[in-house]
Formats: sequence, C-alpha cells, structure tokens
Amino acid sequence: MFCGCPTAFGAAPNTQTCPVCQGMPGVLPVINRRAVEFGIRTALAFNCRINTACRFARKHYYYPDMPKNYQISQYEEPLAEEGWLEIDLPDGTTRRIGIERLHLEEDVGKLVHEGTLEAAQSSLVDYNRAGVPLMETVSRPDLRSPEEAAAYLKAFRAVLVDLGVCDGNMEEGSLRCDANVSLRPRGAATLGTKVEIKNMNSFRNVQRALEFEIERQARALGAGERIVQETRLWDAERGYTRAMRTKEYAHDYRYFPEPDLPPLALPDAWIDELRRNLPELPRARRHRFVTQYGLPAYDAGVLTQSRALAEYFEQAVGEFGNPKIVSNWVMSELLRALPGDDERALRTTPLTPARLAGLLRLIDDGTISGKIAKDVFERMLRTGEAADTIVQREGLTQVADVGALAAIVDRVLADNPKPVEDYRRGRAAAAKALMGLVMKATQGKANPAVVTRLLEEKLSDAKGGQL
Ligand SMILES: [Zn+2]
Repeated sequence: MFCGCPTAFGAAPNTQTCPVCQGMPGVLPVINRRAVEFGIRTALAFNCRINTACRFARKHYYYPDMPKNYQISQYEEPLAEEGWLEIDLPDGTTRRIGIERLHLEEDVGKLVHEGTLEAAQSSLVDYNRAGVPLMETVSRPDLRSPEEAAAYLKAFRAVLVDLGVCDGNMEEGSLRCDANVSLRPRGAATLGTKVEIKNMNSFRNVQRALEFEIERQARALGAGERIVQETRLWDAERGYTRAMRTKEYAHDYRYFPEPDLPPLALPDAWIDELRRNLPELPRARRHRFVTQYGLPAYDAGVLTQSRALAEYFEQAVGEFGNPKIVSNWVMSELLRALPGDDERALRTTPLTPARLAGLLRLIDDGTISGKIAKDVFERMLRTGEAADTIVQREGLTQVADVGALAAIVDRVLADNPKPVEDYRRGRAAAAKALMGLVMKATQGKANPAVVTRLLEEKLSDAKGGQL
C-alpha cells in the first residue's frame, strides 16, 4: 500500500519485503495510486459517496505481526461511505444491503507457530503480507440470515472479481470476511450485543459459523445469560466458535492522523473518468441477459457467474443466434468440462465460441444428430479441432436417407421379435426400445425423425399382422 513490494501468494517467507513495510526507522510511506484507484472503482460500483478529502490514520496496537506497532489505516475520513449492494434471494425477492464505509489500509504480517499454537516451542514471522493493500468495507446490519450473508458475500465477490481489483480467492486470503452476529427479540427495533466472528475462509464456512453462532446466542439468551461483546474464532474442523478476545473499542487504538502522509485530495475529474469506465456489473448483466436474449432467470444466473463465461456465451450467440440453444449447450456440456469461474480456462480453451457455433450449425442443418454432437464436443475439447473436420474425418454425418434407413429398420425388426411382439400387445414403450436398437445399429448416426416415422409405419403394419 505504501511501498513497491510484490504481492504474489506463496512466495518464500520474507522475500517480498522492504524497509518500508518492515517499519524500519527513518522510512517514509508513499501512497499507491493504483490501490486508491481500485478503491474508488469499487466504491463507485457499490454506489458509495467518495470522500474527495480522505486521509490515513495510525491505528496503534502491539503485536509482533506489525513491527512498527501501528497499522496505517483510515478512520474518521475513509475513502468512501454510504453505499449499497443489491442481492437476489432464492425466493425471487431483492434486498438492498447498506454499505457503511469503504477504506484502505495495509495488511499485516503472519505468525507461523511451530506445531500447534498451544504447544509451539517457537514462532516465526513472515512479513510478506505486511504492507499489502487491503480494502475493507463495513456493511450495515441489514442481513437477516446465514443464507442472506452467503448471498451477499457471493454478490460482493462477483463485483470485485469483475472490476479486476481482487482475484476473490478466499483460500489464499485475497478475500476475507469477519461477520458480526447480534440477536433481538422478534419485533424489537434495537439489536442486541454483537459478537464478531473471524477466521472463516469459504462461503460454506461463513454460513456454518453464522448458523452455529446464532444458535449459541439464542440458547444463552433463552437461559437468561448476557451476551458479551467479543471476538470469536471459527473452528471449521470442530464446527464451533470459541472466544478469542473481548471486543476492543476505537479508543483502545489511539487513532491519530498519519503524520507522514498528506490528506488525499481526489480530483473530481479522476473520479468521473473512473465512473465512466466502470464495466457492466454482474447483476446488471444478468438482467440484460433476460431482457435481451429472452433467457429464463435461472440461465441468466448461471451464464453470468463470471465475466469470461458471459462473454463466451455472448460471442457464441453472435456467431450462431438462438440464445436458448447456446445457453443449453454452455450450461450442460461446456460447464461440465470447464468450471464457470475458471476465467483463464474459458478464455484459452481451443473450443472457442466460434467453434461451438460451428458445432451447433451442424446439428441445426441436420448434418449430425444431437447425440453425435456430444461426442464431437468432447473431441473438440481434447484435440482443438473444428467440428466439421472431426465429422468429415470420422464419417459421423447423420443418415437421413429413407431407403438406407428403411433397410436397417427392417433388419432390426426381424432380429428382435420380442419388442415387436410387445408392441403388438399394445406396449408403446417397446417402440422406444426399437428406436434405441436402430440408433445403435447406425452408431447414433440415424436421423431420429426419419427413424420414428419409419418405425411408426412398419409397426402399424405389424399390428395388422403383416410382419
Ligand atoms: Zn515493502
């Protein structure tokens, strides 16, 4: 945030540090313009008011992960305030979740205990992460259930990833969440004492931790106990929260304006430019997919789970048309092979949107059956070849020639007296079995419509006793 150190995840300990982020005497911090830009873009995406005169503050505390004994953060004059993020809930309703503030700060280092925390003989400290730019948002107490909290976090992450300000990787600590839980009697306006939960590193764990904590507090309140304001840790392995420390208050930190950094004057022209260049955000895109392409809301939700996937879909529609057919193929075959949030894989797959369109055209003009198309799809993924190349070389072209198919149908009927007999006794399901046998005899290449017609003709003859 205030030096030029790299921020790559997983580097050897203390290889991405410098005197500034280690807090050596005599060094001076310099504000990272790019980090401020990312903060403004995010604040705009969350509909916040930007404080054109914001400043940094020192937050004092003693802990060996922060050698200078204070962290440069923002306090009374954060980068942005009073925004919101809308979330769509499974029941089809929309909720607007308030965002109280968004501020910038530097991350701290990490203590590595040799063995377990309780039994460790020594602890080591890794300052690689110290000084890494952090953006923190505080939402209003608008979330009402663990499900809503998970929906909020997912929507939140999608915006950050789309803006390109964060890779959203919770396991690597790129996105972290601390949650506050406070209960109140049904109908009461004032919330009870809040408890903060830390250490949740996945959407699933956030939901589990909140479920546990709500239950714990409800039980305590039910037994007439008081809830104390504290910070608790989520233990994912054992599935419970445990007390970490009683809650600290702002005055504990002795905040004061950072004397080494001037107040940040943000020019309106810069903010306007960043506002103009905001990309289309996931929720807007999802609604556009419904109105522009006439897709069901479900499809639109799946197809907009990442920008790369949405772009893939739109390019394929541009080449082929028929959004619903493209959607079906993307949602089933493509997503089975390439996860929707694997943006790199989606952008580099040899099965490009144009290639998918080529495959869909072959089905559309009757060259291949839908069943064969699924095999061709697999091969395209593996070999990177175009659909027509594979179809021609392998001789997969659909057989629609009535004469050729009639001969095959006759042979199948002659070889399989049992289903024919069943059909004669009025069991319509037998026609399906026969259809399968014909498709098998042609290695899936028979045109299903032609086979159906032939079977109907010949089996109605059969009912007449001519077969
Ligand atoms: Zn540094």
